[in-house]
Amino acid sequence: MTPQAKIEILQHLIQIPSVNAHEADVADYLASLFAPYPQAQVERLTYAPGRDNLVVTIGNTTGPRLGLSGHMDVVAPGDESAWTHAPFGGEVVGDQLFGRGASDMKSGLAAIVITMLEFLEQGTPLAGSVRLLATVGEETGEYGAAQLTDAGYADHLAGLVIAEPSGLDQVVYTARGVIDYKVVSTGKGVHSASPELGINAITNLMKFYNAVGPLMAQHTKIDPVLGGLLHNVDLISGGEQINSIPAHAELMANMRTIPAYPNQVIYDELEGLVAQLNQEPGVQLDLTYSFPEEAIPGDPNAPLVQLAKQISDQVCGHDTKVVGSGGANDGAEFLRAKGDFTSIEIGPGSNTSHQPDEYIAIQDYLQAIDFYEALVPAFFAAQAKVHA
Ligand SMILES: [Zn+2]
Repeated sequence: MTPQAKIEILQHLIQIPSVNAHEADVADYLASLFAPYPQAQVERLTYAPGRDNLVVTIGNTTGPRLGLSGHMDVVAPGDESAWTHAPFGGEVVGDQLFGRGASDMKSGLAAIVITMLEFLEQGTPLAGSVRLLATVGEETGEYGAAQLTDAGYADHLAGLVIAEPSGLDQVVYTARGVIDYKVVSTGKGVHSASPELGINAITNLMKFYNAVGPLMAQHTKIDPVLGGLLHNVDLISGGEQINSIPAHAELMANMRTIPAYPNQVIYDELEGLVAQLNQEPGVQLDLTYSFPEEAIPGDPNAPLVQLAKQISDQVCGHDTKVVGSGGANDGAEFLRAKGDFTSIEIGPGSNTSHQPDEYIAIQDYLQAIDFYEALVPAFFAAQAKVHA
């Protein structure tokens, strides 16, 4: 495939405004690229109308299987007047290609798809199979990856490479998890001249607020690369009007977890605190979570981590750093699949993800394709040595 053809695939992907929806249009387009190759097994898993995950498997299915994953959704462009290039234009200026998703992560997605297409085009013999896991809804809760995992598409992988925009000079082997939770306090609204007849929902919510900070601060373990557990109450609201005892109050908090504290440990503590406070007369607190993700543990010396570093050093001529990530990704869901495997994150990107005038350097994008095309056969060769 010519560099121009590779650039056009990325432009086409960016021109599909898959803002937390419309991933099926992305899946349609990617599936059409594989249509000339009947040996590619193309499967779709619908999450919701207009939102399909896409799975494409190529190669020798009797050998080990390497997963290549990317999400098809992007975040909203935000204030479009802040953009000097149309967010869904895919405009090329010099060595930069602009648009929402240019960095996070349509360039990574295009690069792994093109890697597979070039293997097919060139008839490259593969000692194992390569499976594309293209997901919906990564930006809003990794529920596409959750669905693919539940359906068994990530079972028995020998390794997983997620093409998120780490930059090719970084391989991510461990990541923080996330717990977003909400506590709703229900009271009884009455005229504020006779508060004894009502129940103040704000007062009761504050009991939780005052207790949860010190409770979470007891988690003092520090991960050597990720740091400590983070807990922040970021949203709070309550009350109806100035002369009424509030019947409703709520808060939302964001936690960034580390592998030392599995999410269940935190759930048990939050739920324990709520249950304890609900014993007090009049207190009614309800706790819910939205799309929590486990932290991804990892070993910097795992063979796939070291192989990715070595290949990236060779292909790109730089020193690739082995690092941790503060953000959750689809890997947290895929790790629930059957079998033990290493999951890494390495892909082309810039520091403009989720920002106006998001871009990718075309050079980095094309180099990423070379990187994945070298990584896949090297991975199978290393697997053959392990099992020889
Ligand atoms: Zn992403």
